[in-house]
Amino acid sequence: ELYNQIQETKGNIRVFCRCRPLSKGEISAGCASVVDFDAAKDGDLGILTGGSTKKTFKFDRVYTPKDNQVDVFADALPLVTSVLDGYNVCIFAYGQTGTGKTFTMEGTEQNRGVNYRTLEQLFEIAKERHDTFTYNISVSVLEVYNEQIRDLLSTAPSSKRLEIKQSAEGFHHIPGIVEAKVDNIYEVWNVLQIGSNSRTVGSNNVNEHSSRSHCMLCIMVKSKNLMTGECTKSKLWLVDLAGSERLAKTDAQGERLKEAQFINKSLSALGDVIYALATKSSHIPYRNSKLTHLLQDSLGGDSKTLMFVQISPSEQDVSETLSSLNFATRVR
Ligand code: ADP
Ligand code: MG
Repeated sequence: ELYNQIQETKGNIRVFCRCRPLSKGEISAGCASVVDFDAAKDGDLGILTGGSTKKTFKFDRVYTPKDNQVDVFADALPLVTSVLDGYNVCIFAYGQTGTGKTFTMEGTEQNRGVNYRTLEQLFEIAKERHDTFTYNISVSVLEVYNEQIRDLLSTAPSSKRLEIKQSAEGFHHIPGIVEAKVDNIYEVWNVLQIGSNSRTVGSNNVNEHSSRSHCMLCIMVKSKNLMTGECTKSKLWLVDLAGSERLAKTDAQGERLKEAQFINKSLSALGDVIYALATKSSHIPYRNSKLTHLLQDSLGGDSKTLMFVQISPSEQDVSETLSSLNFATRVR
């Protein structure tokens, strides 16, 4: 309720900033933290950029390294559950590799992230409402790498090129992609495991590969109101974006260069779409990348968007941190 009131006055895009703790390696190397969290409660964040200069940024929420998965999910909850009321929703994590995008979205078995907690809550609420509604929930897991879509739930050899099509009702979908129907959280866990295991196939370094592709989980919800007979169809995208860091000059060739150009192009396209929405532009350039084209139904209109901008506290990463915060500020 409160969330919806805020939405009306502030538009449909929220930006939460999350800073990970200094790593053991950074601590033992004597790295200093450049982040000032004094006003984090008000959504203000300061970055010490050398000497006595401090750049300040404002977000809807700021999470310090002390905030845990439960704290973070509590703020995302109203948004994810609005998918059961028929809204399309998109949540994504943006930032340099190593800042906690995967930690926020996927988490670990001991420290589950947004993806798992979202599905857990959807089933919970669906159960509470079972006198009035029936829900049908299914999930797809895919990856976008070098502007190509790969179905991570498909067991068939990936020969066919997957394309985005628009249905007569205006829904965007990928013909042929696996939509796994899930009835409870245990089934979800299995499906997410299959998805994450198939990411590793064909790549010699899992972490490297995953930081260069966008990992996308799509939750599709069909609901039927048993009293009125009314049916709705909505979609929730949960996206772990490719790392936003710029390519080192020494790597600027061959396959690396190509990957970096594709990442750059799709992240800029995402920034452009959100900026166009925020400034109420008459043209929203969804078609400039596979990423934005896929997310089209869940970005804009009356859909709800949440962006986690993930940062490192370390002085060594300050220029990437500023670049991520500037990206996030532009879309807010
Ligand atoms: P990314 O996906 O952005 O490359 P990861 O999610 O892999 O980053 O995080 C990098 C490392 O930092 C991992 O070891 C992860 O467990 C740890 N980490 C990230 N965020 C947090 C956090 N908020 N609290 C504790 N550890 C974190
Ligand atoms: Mg990652």
